[in-house]
Amino acid sequence: MARTQLQRARDGEVTAAMERVAERENRDPEFVRQQVADGQAVIPTNHAHDALDPMIIGREFATKVNANIGNSEETSDLQGELEKLHAAVHYGADTVMDLSTGANLDEIREANVEHSPVPVGTVPIYEAIKHVDEPADLTRDLLLDVIEKQAEQGVDYMTIHAGVLLEHLPLTDGRKTGIVSRGGSILARWIEENGRQNPLYTGFEEICEIFAEHDVTFSLGDGLRPGSLADAGDEAQFAELDTLGELTRTARDHGVQVMVEGPGHVPMDRVADNVERQQEVCDGAPFYVLGPLVTDVAPGYDHITSAIGAAEAGRAGAAMLCYVTPKEHLGLPDREDVRDGLAAYRIAAHAADVATGLPGARDWDDALSEARYAFDWRRQFDLALDPQRAQEYHDQTLPGDNYKQARFCSMCGVEFCSMRIDQDARDADGEMSALDDETDLDDSPAAEANLPPVGTHDTSGVPEEIEINGVTFTPDQGHADD
Ligand code: SF4
Repeated sequence: MARTQLQRARDGEVTAAMERVAERENRDPEFVRQQVADGQAVIPTNHAHDALDPMIIGREFATKVNANIGNSEETSDLQGELEKLHAAVHYGADTVMDLSTGANLDEIREANVEHSPVPVGTVPIYEAIKHVDEPADLTRDLLLDVIEKQAEQGVDYMTIHAGVLLEHLPLTDGRKTGIVSRGGSILARWIEENGRQNPLYTGFEEICEIFAEHDVTFSLGDGLRPGSLADAGDEAQFAELDTLGELTRTARDHGVQVMVEGPGHVPMDRVADNVERQQEVCDGAPFYVLGPLVTDVAPGYDHITSAIGAAEAGRAGAAMLCYVTPKEHLGLPDREDVRDGLAAYRIAAHAADVATGLPGARDWDDALSEARYAFDWRRQFDLALDPQRAQEYHDQTLPGDNYKQARFCSMCGVEFCSMRIDQDARDADGEMSALDDETDLDDSPAAEANLPPVGTHDTSGVPEEIEINGVTFTPDQGHADD
């Protein structure tokens, strides 16, 4: 039987996947192996996922971003799903989760695995529930059959809500928003109606055996995650987390890779505490957080409310951020929502990497800043997180090729471009460091040079007025009607 990355790492083997990951992250392959062997990082790589380019999830590596894709009862077609996969990978998703709940689940899942260069995750209970009339009719055998089939299809990681226990459910009484995880709510209903323990918990060792055979990575679901700030950090959330710690150790005993999912909705000042607590309870298993949203008041903008929490979570040690789109709580995201959600989360992930001092992370910022200061617009676009959007926004007001070297943009206008004024001052008087505490700034040539240098630059290529979408801009003032 083929062995898992974890088993091979423990045996001291640097696998081809570890070599590839080391190359992508610019790290020593032996360091990668050690992180995997210690369970501090995972490389989700189902043996049957041939199109995969291996990647790693762990706090010592670049913070990763997951994009959820998939259909719903209302919208289902294979081509549309593959377009979503393409959009997600194109805009920078490190993994995708196929959360389809509509028609043609097998066909869509197999196509996603076949075409995806990034790990594919699923939540198998979404398929299992479609085989029964009521959640209470789910059986352990049915759940295991679905999990095994998806493992055979090449799914790299699966969310398993095995931590929702019978004894936890009373702890959710009195919550403002109850149980908001889809998997968590289905299992809670099953437990209540059958009066028995969660079948994913009682069947956990069998799931481990399936995962070990195919090298599927656990993403231990937080079925009792808070769905509002009011419920954040309550007894139910942390009781489940303790169970996830126990399950982490069980999975590792079977040689199976594990990451752990986290909340949800958390006030900003408590995000870091949540990460530190998970790291302690789950022995450093990579933390995969869903946001968290740091306020509940902005439906339509929850890619922003959650990216704020995600950046803080990443800074505190979360290894992967599950994106949220502007449609969160409101509807199924389309391609443009996927783009906006991924941009928000890639910003959060990169901001976290800069803050934690990940080797090389700041180089990107420095390169873009240099291009910006040099008015090298094309390089600035190329380096931008979303190059197409950066150029579109620039070209809305200054579309001509001649503006790709212009020493201003339409934001401040040619007269008030502070970077140009600053550069002119430096050109006139040398670096500002020539100034010191004793310099009389009022009497210095630099002060003169820092006055708006009206008439000292060549504006012959700049039109007097630019009209865009009915709004007139003047080069030196911005909006003509300001
Ligand atoms: S005009 Fe303003 S925003 Fe545009 S490049 Fe100059 S300083 Fe930057």
